[in-house]
Amino acid sequence: MTALNRREALVVGGAAAATAALASLAPAARAARPAAPVGGQPAGFYRFKIGSHEALALCDAWNTMSPAHPLFAPEATPEQFAEVMGEHFLPADRVTLYVNVLCVRMGGEVVLIDTGNAPGRGPTSGLTAAHLAAAGVPPDEVTAIFISHAHPDHVGGLVSADGGLVYPNARCFINRVEHEFWTGASPDLSRSGVPEGRRAGMVAAAQASLEAVREKLEPVRGGDTTLPGVELVETFGHTPGHTSIILSDGDQRLAAMGDLAHNHVVMFARPDWTIAFDTDPRAAAQARKTMFRRLADERLRVFGYHVPWPAVGHIAAHAEGFVWVPQPWDWSGG
Ligand SMILES: [Zn+2]
Repeated sequence: MTALNRREALVVGGAAAATAALASLAPAARAARPAAPVGGQPAGFYRFKIGSHEALALCDAWNTMSPAHPLFAPEATPEQFAEVMGEHFLPADRVTLYVNVLCVRMGGEVVLIDTGNAPGRGPTSGLTAAHLAAAGVPPDEVTAIFISHAHPDHVGGLVSADGGLVYPNARCFINRVEHEFWTGASPDLSRSGVPEGRRAGMVAAAQASLEAVREKLEPVRGGDTTLPGVELVETFGHTPGHTSIILSDGDQRLAAMGDLAHNHVVMFARPDWTIAFDTDPRAAAQARKTMFRRLADERLRVFGYHVPWPAVGHIAAHAEGFVWVPQPWDWSGG
């Protein structure tokens, strides 16, 4: 499947790229480096608040995947996929996969939700640490990282190209089920749409990242207490231990939904449609619908890992499914 091969070059290939002989800078040197240009846009970070917590949306990557179908919505016909995309004024032959990392300064903690792709992969990928530094946060100030799941576009950014830790002072929380799955003897990706010959590479990428931070890892379960104001919600399916993270300060809350959606249209309008990278597509769709319903009912603000920049918005029930409602850009940073 051509789409999967290309997707893989973008996502699964992260491990190979990370170990390739790319020029690499030590974390301290990279922190001092100016932010990589974002396609001519001046900034790769966006400031906002969660109550009194200072939050940063960080651009890690944006990559265009073409063709988009059947990587997206393998259960839909090409015509059905094109119809939904067209209704939202989007072409059907390609999807831009945004990668957005969240950083929140809360109390004495500097928290990251996931870490993006491996640094140094290319001009439009692996930019989290550079954009964090540009926003005035050196990587060694990060004290805690919550890992939604162990796909390379989420954990690749833990490790620099020379094998060092990008965030040397951070504890890393990961769901126990997720950790046991990827570090187990033979992680089963047979229900996913990942081509058989490519599964080993995906597993190796996850294992390499998790091994690098082994001494920093703290396996947890949904509902466990970690840091004050952090709620872990098990939204299993995309991967066996995929977890959403709700951050709060007083009555102000923000849900980092991880990979419950990979686009701002398709999985909202048709929440039963999946992506080939779901480890368990049916469970992923169910988790998406259950969590989207909660987020809509509770009117929670949401941070979308793969929705368009700066990825802060709400989810509303709409027709047979849902709709992503971006929050208006706020120049005040409030
Ligand atoms: Zn992802």
